[in-house]
Parts: sequence; structure tokens; C-alpha cells
Amino acid sequence: MDELTSGIVAGNRRALSRAITLVESSRSDHRARAVALLSELPDRKALRIGLSGTPGVGKSTFIEAFGKLLTGQGLKVAVLAVDPSSTRSGGSILGDKTRMELLSRDPNAFIRPSPSQAELGGVARRTREAVRLCEAAGFDIILIETVGVGQSETLVAEMSDLFILLLAPAGGDELQGVKRGIMEIADLILVNKADGDLLLTARRTVADYAGALRLMRKRAYDPPEFPKAVPVSAYTGDGLEKAWENMGYLANWRREHGHFDRRRAEQARHWFLAELRAGLLARLEEPTTRQELHRLGDAVARGEISPGHAASQMLEQLGQG
Ligand code: GDP
Repeated sequence: MDELTSGIVAGNRRALSRAITLVESSRSDHRARAVALLSELPDRKALRIGLSGTPGVGKSTFIEAFGKLLTGQGLKVAVLAVDPSSTRSGGSILGDKTRMELLSRDPNAFIRPSPSQAELGGVARRTREAVRLCEAAGFDIILIETVGVGQSETLVAEMSDLFILLLAPAGGDELQGVKRGIMEIADLILVNKADGDLLLTARRTVADYAGALRLMRKRAYDPPEFPKAVPVSAYTGDGLEKAWENMGYLANWRREHGHFDRRRAEQARHWFLAELRAGLLARLEEPTTRQELHRLGDAVARGEISPGHAASQMLEQLGQG
């Protein structure tokens, strides 16, 4: 075992940070090193919790309060982010650490902003590998935060054991605004800001979503009361323990019924195919391949060879490469 590997296994935060930087690098020598590192690390299982919510719903405030609740119970918590907009906005949702000031100073917490890469697939891979690194470093809970942009929720759900949707109190009309697909992948809906003037609206919102969830197809792999909606306040801390109890209950239920491991197995299969697809696409971008693509494209345009024939020639060459 080399220094970096043993550092991670010992739970050394600097080693963990360095390793995450390594998996985020797109240099090919770094990639080879990252792949080797990941295969060397022992498999430790943390609970991976995906958390999605639009900007302003209170994700940072929630993660800070929820994270402190968990570290208060002696758990080690890592926070990662998938923010496909981070390159465009020039910063990441977690870049500004002052937003989680208490948690970032907590010795049992580790916060890592979203890698700044334009391409969502790339960000997803890095985050997934960062999850593995945090697990190997001994973290018990991995929170993976994402803003509801594009396909980012689906990606985060594909790397989480539980997927939580954070919502703000809202009138009935806005319920329609939440995409059905997201409701379908949510295991727990938390209606945040259930405090002060917003308390009543929050309770009504919880009831609205509970109703909407009941109308959805029941999942064979969950207890009948799930997915469910509950109110929380990241400000006052109300409902956070109950939310945590719900997550624990669902995770244990899935473990006992074999669904937990099955889900991870399906995710592994999904990521294998995603990596393969990404790898093949990357091959198409290589200079020699591009030249050949150009040459075949010209031949197709001149009518010397059919598009289908040219494609199979190209695939054959890729297969030999
Ligand atoms: P994010 O963009 O989802 O990370 O949201 P933030 O955590 O930055 O919060 C957005 C705004 O909502 C801030 O002004 C917070 O102070 C406020 N906020 C967050 N949680 C609560 C809460 O539980 N109750 C109330 N009343 N406001 C909250």
C-alpha cells in the first residue's frame, strides 16, 4: 500500500482531499493512478444519502443542521456536491464554505465542493469515485447534494442508497411544478422552513405531497408508508430527528429485505455501462479516430460507401484499437 492509500484508510483528511483532486483530474496519467487507487481501497459501506432541491430551498442550512445532528451522534459525515452549473456561475454551491460554517469546522465532517467540469457525466463519475474514497476513509454517512438542474437528480439518485427531496412551503398550484420523475425517485420529501409564519403553509404542503405520493404506483421494494413527506425546519431543528429516524428505518428495512444490496448492484451495473459509453465516446474524439471519421465521412458524402457500411467499418476499427 502506498502513502496515499494508507493515508485514506487511516482517515487522514489531507490524503482524502488529495485523492479526490486526483480523481477529478482529466490527465491520463492521473486517471490511471486514480483507477489503481480505487481498486486498492478496501470496501467499506457508508449510508449514501442524495439530497436535491432548487436554490433557495435551504439545502446548505439543512445540511449544516442535519450534519451537526449526525456528528452529535458520533457519526462521521462527508458532504459532496453535484452542481452542473458550477462552471457557468464560476463558483460552486459549496464553494462558499461560510454557508456551512459550523459543519466545516467540525472534526467529524468533511465538505467537498462540486468539481468544476462542464460536462455532467464527468462530474458524476468524479462524485461517485469521491463517494468511494470517503467511504474508504471511514465516513459513516455521505450526503450528496445537488441542485435540480437538468439530469443531476437522476445522477445523484443513481449513486445514493436513499434519495431525499427538499421542498419549500408552497401553494397547491406549485405542487404541479415538481417534475413527476423526481417525485418518483424520491424516498422522502422534506418540506423545509416549517417554522414561524410558514408553519401552516408547510403543513399544508406536506399534506398535498403526501396525497400526491399516495396516488403514485406503490413500490414493491419499500414498506407501505414510503415514500412519505414530513415537515422540517433547518432553522429551529424541528423535525430533523424524525427525518433521520425515517431514513434509518427505510435503510434498515431495505437491508433486511435484500433491496439495499440489490440497489447497489444495479447501480454498479448502470455505472459500468455509463463508463463504457463515455469511454467509447472519448475514443471518437481521439485525433487518429477523428481523421478516420473525417475520411469515412467524405466517402459517405461522395456516395462511395453507405452510411451503415461506413459506421460498421469504424466500429470494427474501434474494436481493434
Ligand atoms: P440553498 O440555496 O438551497 O442552499 O438554500 P440556503 O440554505 O442558502 O437557504 C436559502 C434561504 O432560506 C436563506 O435565506 C436561509 O436563511 C433560508 N432558510 C433555510 N432554511 C430555513 C428554515 O428552516 N426556515 C426558514 N424560515 N428559512 C430558512
